[in-house]
Amino acid sequence: MNQLDSLRADLKALDDGHLRRTRRNNALPCAPHARIDGRDLLAFCSNDYLGLAGEPALATALAEGAARWGSGAGASHLVSGHYAVQHQLEARLATFVGAERALYFSTGYMANSGVIPALVGRGDAVFADRLNHASLVDGMVLSRATLHRYPHLDLDALERMLAASAAPRKLIASDAVFSMDGDIAPLSALLALAERYDAWLLVDDAHGFGVLGPHGRGAVAEAGLDSWRLIQIGTLGKAAGVSGAFAAGHADVIEWLMQKVRSYIFTTGAPPALAHALLASIDLIEQGDERRRHLAALIDRFKARLHLQRWVLLPSRTPIQPVQIGANAEALVVARALWDEGLWVPAIRPPTVPAGTARLRISLTAAHTEVDVDRLADTLNRLEAAQ
Ligand code: PMP
Repeated sequence: MNQLDSLRADLKALDDGHLRRTRRNNALPCAPHARIDGRDLLAFCSNDYLGLAGEPALATALAEGAARWGSGAGASHLVSGHYAVQHQLEARLATFVGAERALYFSTGYMANSGVIPALVGRGDAVFADRLNHASLVDGMVLSRATLHRYPHLDLDALERMLAASAAPRKLIASDAVFSMDGDIAPLSALLALAERYDAWLLVDDAHGFGVLGPHGRGAVAEAGLDSWRLIQIGTLGKAAGVSGAFAAGHADVIEWLMQKVRSYIFTTGAPPALAHALLASIDLIEQGDERRRHLAALIDRFKARLHLQRWVLLPSRTPIQPVQIGANAEALVVARALWDEGLWVPAIRPPTVPAGTARLRISLTAAHTEVDVDRLADTLNRLEAAQ
C-alpha cells in the first residue's frame, strides 16, 4: 500500500467510526438564522454569546478601522507590524480584566500554544485538567515539559501530582469554562494550589470573557482573583464577536511573553483594523448587562423546559448547554433529525470529547429569542420520546 492508499484507508476508518467531519457553507452572516444550500435553519452552534458578531455598530467600526489603518499589518509585531491602535487595545483589555498589562494575539490557539512553552521547558512540569482545550494541550506538548493530566476538576489528584513533582518550574493550566461541557473550573482553589506549590496558573477564559463576571470582565474577575502567578487568556472571536485573543497578567510576565512566545514573534501581526473594531467591541461588552440578562433568562428557560429521560443535560450555568447522548452514531442520528426539523446543533464526537460521551453542543446567545429556545427544547423532548 502506498502513502496515498494508506491515507485513503485512514479516511475510510473515519467514516466507519462516524468520525468524518464536514463543513456547511452558510450563505448568511453569523447569527441564529443560517442558510445552508438554500435551506433556512435556526442555529445553536456559535460562540457568539452576546450576538455581537452581527452587531451593525461593530461592522461599522471594522469598516472605519480599515479606512483608517488599511488592510494588513505588513510585518510581525516586533519588526514593524505593531500599531498605536493595538497598543491602545492592549491597555483597554488589561484595565477591563483587572491586570497590569496585556498582549494581543491573532488567535486563542496561538496564545495558548505559545504561552506555555515560554514559561516552562524540558525538565519542568505542566499540570492540566483532562478536558482542557486542544490548544492548551498542544502548548504543553510544544513546551517539552513533563505532562501531568488530572481527572476533570479533581483537585485532590492535582495536589498529589504537584506534591510528588520535583520539577524546578511548574505550571497549572485550566480552561475557565470547559468548551464542550460548559462547567466552570474552581479558580480560587486552583490559585491556592499554585501558591502552595509555587506554580504558574494559566487560565483560558475563552468562553467566560464577555459573559461572566461584573460587566462581562470574565471568570477571573468573577472569582475576584489577583496574583502575579495568574496569566489569563481571553479570546476575542467568541463573545467579543471579532477575532483574536490576549494574555493578561503581571507587567513583567507579559514583557517576558512578548520576548519569548514564538507564536507571537514569528507571525505577521493581525490587521490593525481588527483592533479598531475590538475597541468598540469591549465598549459593547462593558455596556452589555442587558444582553447578559437576556442570555441568562434564556439559559434558565431552556433548562426548565427540557425534560429528558435517557439523554443527559450536563450541569452548566453558562451558555454552553450540552446534551450527552453517548454513542457517536446516535448523536449523529439526533443531530440529523434536528437538522431535518430546521434546527442546527452540532454533534460533538471524539477526539473532541472522550469516547462514549458524544453529545449535542447547544450554545445559546443573546441573539436568540424565547421562541427559539422553546422550539429547540420542545423538539428535543419529542425526538427523545420517539427514539
Ligand atoms: N480555548 C478554548 C477553550 C476554545 O474553545 C478555543 C476555540 N474553540 C480556543 C481556546 C481557541 O481560540 P481561537 O478560536 O481564538 O483560536
